[in-house]
Amino acid sequence: MVDAHLEELARLEVTSAGHTIGNARWEAGNVRDVLDYYAGAPERLTGRQIPVPGGLDVTFHEPLGVVGVIVPWNFPMPIAGWGFAPALAAGNTVVLKPAELTPLTALRLGELALEAGLPEGVLTVVPGKGSVVGERFVTHPAVRKVCFTGSTEVGKRIMAGCAEQVKRVTLELGGKSANLVFADADLAAAAAAAPAAVFDNAGQDCCARSRILVQRSVYDEFLTLLEPAVRAFRVEDPALDTAQMGPLISAGRRATVASYVDGAKVAFTGSAPAGDGFWYPPTVLLAGSPAERHWREEVFGPVVSVLPFDGEADAIRLANDTEYGLSGSIWTRDVGRAIRVARGVESGNLSVNSNSSVRYWTPFGA
Ligand code: NAD
Repeated sequence: MVDAHLEELARLEVTSAGHTIGNARWEAGNVRDVLDYYAGAPERLTGRQIPVPGGLDVTFHEPLGVVGVIVPWNFPMPIAGWGFAPALAAGNTVVLKPAELTPLTALRLGELALEAGLPEGVLTVVPGKGSVVGERFVTHPAVRKVCFTGSTEVGKRIMAGCAEQVKRVTLELGGKSANLVFADADLAAAAAAAPAAVFDNAGQDCCARSRILVQRSVYDEFLTLLEPAVRAFRVEDPALDTAQMGPLISAGRRATVASYVDGAKVAFTGSAPAGDGFWYPPTVLLAGSPAERHWREEVFGPVVSVLPFDGEADAIRLANDTEYGLSGSIWTRDVGRAIRVARGVESGNLSVNSNSSVRYWTPFGA
């Protein structure tokens, strides 16, 4: 059903969230694939048989009941799917709250679920304010688990609320992921890949590699390679097939992003269209020290900060000097170093010589 409506869902997301059509097609396809993947789960939810003195202990996986899924605006479709597909496959019913700014694809997915034959009430999409609908998922005793993706601040509040009722909770929160570029890396490949790793979805990505750490001996060379890649990043009408980045989600987000760039040292920027839309150009900032606000806080926009490091230990120390730990990348030709650094950096997942880490069949999150 989702597959048959892929283009419609993708177009809806372009209109609603300003995602590029290429991304939006991937996102709708991801919902389809995640549903396919979990469609095979019910038959595999087997329990265990454990011999015990004088008998046999048998375990079962039981549904919890109602699972509340709270979704942010940055990836409305995939994050909804990662929540509702496994919850439904495990025999639960789901109440799904999309973000205030991006309810349309979730509502459409709810309609498609009914058309696909899901009984009414099994997947219920409830748009509304976080402080009202989302909060109700936390306080309502019938909701036995809350699956939340969003900001750390709201996540902490939800965790505290769930604790009141000893309610299960899964949190996927913010990120400030490091992209570590060692001197022995294929610098051209690292520089060519770095813009998409942070500017994809206009940087509104929890896994955005928004801190680039470059070994000091190749710092200038890396920036020289990065500049044309950033300038070539195509920021344009997201409905165009050629678009690599669209506008930001809202005027408020644009003002917040700009506040990080004000007073910071700008190395170079890409381009952005003038006129209607919350446009912001891809922006590369040089961090004078790790104390700078744009280095420490999640900008959630098309802004990347660059800082040099000296050697492996320094790279690991700087990468770990953050309250976040979601994702990141390591660029090196030395496999031993890749493994050492991957073990040293405290992050849920790390990619070596690549920036992709989101797959539904491998663990994700931290
Ligand atoms: P947000 O925390 O403001 O909102 C997320 C969702 O929570 C929205 O649906 C919102 O309505 C709801 N909400 C707000 N207040 C609530 C409350 N008191 N009780 C219950 N629900 C409430 O976050 P956002 O601005 O929509 O999203 C951006 C954040 O999400 C970023 O920090 C980003 O890193 C994070 N994020 C994380 C992941 C991940 O997988 N780790 C993925 C995408 C986004």
